[in-house]
This record gives sequence, C-alpha cells and structure tokens, in this order.
Amino acid sequence: MRDTLFTLPEQIAIPVQGQQAAYPVGRIFCVGRNYAAHAAEMGHEVDREAPFYFTKSAPNAVLTGATVRYLPGTEDFHHEMELAVAIGKPVFRATSAQAWDAVYAYGCALDMTRRDLQIRERNKQRPWDLGKDLEAGAVFAPLTLAADWSPRDDTRIQLSVNGEIRQDATLSELIWKIDEIISYLSGYYHLRPGDLILTGTPAGVGPVQAGDVIEGGIDGLQPVIFTLAGAE
Ligand code: MN
Repeated sequence: MRDTLFTLPEQIAIPVQGQQAAYPVGRIFCVGRNYAAHAAEMGHEVDREAPFYFTKSAPNAVLTGATVRYLPGTEDFHHEMELAVAIGKPVFRATSAQAWDAVYAYGCALDMTRRDLQIRERNKQRPWDLGKDLEAGAVFAPLTLAADWSPRDDTRIQLSVNGEIRQDATLSELIWKIDEIISYLSGYYHLRPGDLILTGTPAGVGPVQAGDVIEGGIDGLQPVIFTLAGAE
C-alpha cells in the first residue's frame, strides 16, 4: 500500500453484545421528522411525504461514555434520542423482506444538534451541515444483534438529562418504519455493512448545558450516555 502523508483519526467501531469483533462505522444516515409529535414541535405538519435523510461524517461518531466540550458556534445545543439500525449485508432497492434481512443489529444513539444553526440554515434553504454534522455529534451505545432484539410498537424510547425525563415515547410513533426507511434509502445508495441509520427522534428535544449528563434508553438495548463539559 502507498505511504500516506499523514494519518487520519482512527475509525471508531461499536462493540456488539456477545461478539468479539466490533462494528466499524462507515456511513451515518439520519432520518428527519419521523415522529409526529416531534415534527409538530419543530413547526411542521405531519404527512406521509417520502422520508428525508441527512448524513453525519463517520469521524464525528463517538462511543457512549464520552465526555465532550460544549460545542463552539451554538447557544442552543440540543439532544435527540434515536434508535440506530446497523446494516449487515449489501442491499439495493430492497423490498420489505430484504430490508429486514439486511439489519445486523440495533442500538441507542444520540443525534446531537446545533438547533439554532439548523433552523437558521433551514429557513435560508441551505444545507444543515453546521447544525447536524458536528464533531462528536453522533453518539453510539453498544449494539444488540437483530437475532436477539426486535423493535415492537410498545418498545419505549426515552432520554433523560441529569435524571429528569425529557423524551418519552414508544416506537409505535415512528411515521416510517424500519423496513420502509431502509427500502427507500436503498433506492439512492447501495447500502452495505458499516452503514448506520438513525431513525428519527420523538418529541421533547431540548437544550443541554455544560455539566449535563444525557442518558438515552430503549427497552432491551444498552443505554447511551454522554457528558457535556464546559466550552473551550
Ligand atoms: Mn435526529
């Protein structure tokens, strides 16, 4: 292999429950407005328009337990608790059955957001990158194999800040279900192992402050924990 001029940050890999090998993070896709009550709190009508996606860069992923400084360039840094789906085999233009079959594992994840910049850019019809693709802006808990866990309508998804519940919903509220999200996305990308999809956040998103401990949980999955230190 050709020598490179410098070394990039090491790619992170997410531990998988019961497995020796970890799951390396390739691409990170996120679904927007996928819980009705969250769409409403963001000022949008809820409809069955096709799902929409944005991405986060893999080097911006961190593992649960991380402590991160309050981000520069925002005065409204928000938590979003989400169910992450890890793809385990190549899939393109997937049917529902192929989509389910492509799921390797599930996990808790946080889609951290500079809300002030996301909304400012959205209102100017500009891309969301400054609001969404943040250093340490995607936080992952250890994954659980799809063979060991399945999403159910009554599966609870919650987030607390310093022990106080801020987000509390069930997966029944997902507008687009897991297979639909994968099927639709696979019409635009050749999905492959390493691809992670964050499936959207329920209502109750809100700001976090330096010193806060953010903990997200989904029934039956490992929790995701993130601590915010002071600003640089
Ligand atoms: Mn989100």
